[in-house]
Amino acid sequence: KMGNATLRMELGRASWKLFHTILARYPDEPTGAQRDHLDTYIESFAQVYPCGDCARHFVKLLEKYPPQLNSRKNAAVWGCHIHNQVNKVLHHDIYDCATILEDYDCGCGADEESADY
Ligand code: FAD
Repeated sequence: KMGNATLRMELGRASWKLFHTILARYPDEPTGAQRDHLDTYIESFAQVYPCGDCARHFVKLLEKYPPQLNSRKNAAVWGCHIHNQVNKVLHHDIYDCATILEDYDCGCGADEESADY
C-alpha cells in the first residue's frame, strides 16, 4: 500500500488536472449563469476537498484571491496563479502560466456545447 504522502500527492495531481481543464474550457464570454455555475463549483471544490488541511488552506486562498471569472483566459490564469500559491507553500516549482490554455487542452475539440457551466 502506498504511504499517505504519496496518496495525498496523487489526489492533488488528479484534482489539479480536472481543475485546470475545467477552467481552460470556460467560455470566452460567459453568461451570468455560466459564471455562477463555475463560481459555485470552485467554492464547493474547496469545501469538499478530501484532505482537510488542504481544504482549509485553499478556502483561505480563495478569500485572498477571488476567482476571476469574466473570461476563459482570466479564469485559467487565475487558476494557475492560485495553484502557484500552493506550490510556493509546498516549496514546489512555480509554473509558467503563459501557455495555460494550450497546456490544458482537454481534447474535446470543437464540441463547445458539451459543457454547461
Ligand atoms: P501538482 O502541484 O499536483 O501539479 C500537477 C502538475 O500540474 C504538475 O506536474 C505540472 O505539470 C502542473 N502544474 C504545476 N503547477 C501548476 C500551476 N500553477 N498551474 C497549472 N499547472 C500546474 N498538498 C499538501 O501537502 N498540502 C496542502 O495544503 C495542499 N493543498 C492542496 C489544495 C488543493 C486545492 C489541491 C488540489 C491540492 C493540494 N495539495 C496540498 C496537493 C499539492 O498541491 C500537489 O498536488 C501534490 O503535492 C503533488 O505535487 P506535484 O509536484 O506532483 O504537482
